[in-house]
Amino acid sequence: MPNGKPAGVRCVQLDEHDGCRIFGHPDRPRVCGSLPPSREMCGDTREQAMFFLAELERLTA
Ligand code: SF4
Repeated sequence: MPNGKPAGVRCVQLDEHDGCRIFGHPDRPRVCGSLPPSREMCGDTREQAMFFLAELERLTA
């Protein structure tokens, strides 16, 4: 996304399975690679991970 991904907006690089279309590609934003997964962030379910991400976006809006 040329001007960065606004909070609350789905990344255009996500495919229909929520996978990154440019994973491993040099054009992938550095910030994406600098955010390693963790138990706190991912939780045990997709719903827990999405709740954590929504909180991050809310806190950084
Ligand atoms: S890793 Fe980065 S570029 Fe890939 S889908 Fe997620 S936010 Fe988009």
